[in-house]
Amino acid sequence: MDLIIRRAALTHHVAGRDAPVDIVIDGGRIVAVEPNVAAKGAQEIDAAGALVAPPFVDAHFHMDATLSYGLPRVNASGTLLEGIALWGELKPDLTQEALIERALQYCDWAVARGLLAIRSHVDVCDPRLLAVEALIEVKRRVAPYLDLQLVAFPQDGLLRSPGAFENLKRAVALGIDVVGGIPHFERTMADGAESIRLLCEFAAEKGLPVDMHCDESDDPLSRHIETLCGEAHRLGLAGRVAGSHLTSMHSMDNYYVSKLLPLMRESGVAAIANPLINITLQGRADTYPKRRGMTRVPEMLAAGITVAFGHDCVMDPWYSLGSGDMLEVAHMGLHVAQMTGVEAMRASFDAVTVNAARILGLEGYGIAPGCHGDCVVLDASDPIDAIRLRATRLAVVRRGKVVARTPAPHAALALEGRPGTVDFKLRR
Ligand SMILES: [Zn+2]
Repeated sequence: MDLIIRRAALTHHVAGRDAPVDIVIDGGRIVAVEPNVAAKGAQEIDAAGALVAPPFVDAHFHMDATLSYGLPRVNASGTLLEGIALWGELKPDLTQEALIERALQYCDWAVARGLLAIRSHVDVCDPRLLAVEALIEVKRRVAPYLDLQLVAFPQDGLLRSPGAFENLKRAVALGIDVVGGIPHFERTMADGAESIRLLCEFAAEKGLPVDMHCDESDDPLSRHIETLCGEAHRLGLAGRVAGSHLTSMHSMDNYYVSKLLPLMRESGVAAIANPLINITLQGRADTYPKRRGMTRVPEMLAAGITVAFGHDCVMDPWYSLGSGDMLEVAHMGLHVAQMTGVEAMRASFDAVTVNAARILGLEGYGIAPGCHGDCVVLDASDPIDAIRLRATRLAVVRRGKVVARTPAPHAALALEGRPGTVDFKLRR
């Protein structure tokens, strides 16, 4: 046996009821998950009751823009539109070498954080397709340790930006995995709907999934999600379509949403909210009360819709912070959506693990015999504790090999009369 992780708590474990288990990995796959395995591993890790989860999955990211913060200047208004304009200023100066270097650096951060699968949108509006070629190269290089899925994203509008559809088709021919879109950024609502129809038909023809930036605004009448559902239904794309952001749903009329949620469910359209970015970019035109802007996550989950949380941005024209930590994303999502019940907090953890994996269509994901030997050992007792602590990734495992380790932090106190170390964990 290549690797055995001893005494692991699993995400669905209930403290006091379930015994910890040993996870046995051989030949890159999990071969057993059971208590007290007698076999010996070539390498062994003692989790000592800590949570061992499947790796984090980011369902929405922009790896072509990441780590470009401050180039050529910072976003002064903090709005989505200034971010898009700023990215437009940066584009002519991009080089393939710099794109690859920044993306690889981000992938290192991701692996260290136990984030082993990322769906990244790639801007295809630059006819040179520099970013597309760079990220296809990055995908090839990181493949041994990270699944990078690429979305052809017409950032400046499929119809609004000259040649965008041709560029998108060329990007797909080069090996991009998913068809993207941005209907709310087209010139008119009608153009937005037309872009959805064209892109969904193209995806159906190519047998590809669809993931569109959809209704990323505070405009309650931005209803492109309805069209996206309609096209998914018409073309039989159920289970292969995701609407990213969907922030306008925050501002929509409740009666309209009571019809929209069942439509999303019926059409098999998943939702990807991006809590850090939505709470930062939306509501910028409001005075007070100021809208939160994130889509209706608890209501979607209750309606049976698959919902993931994405990171979206790290140190780029739209967002100046972030470090590839999906627990920080889950933490923000939980707060913005007020998902504070026990089940809701656990659902926030699912939104950066299993739900995101389902949207990406990852094969062999999970902690069960037959799954890939991929996992993250967290310095926490359960998913809620992991979110609370943004827990240290004690070990990150990919295909049975340890690819990152971080020591558990213990603060040394220097208090009069109370010397010692502090451990913020609570073993429940
Ligand atoms: Zn995005």
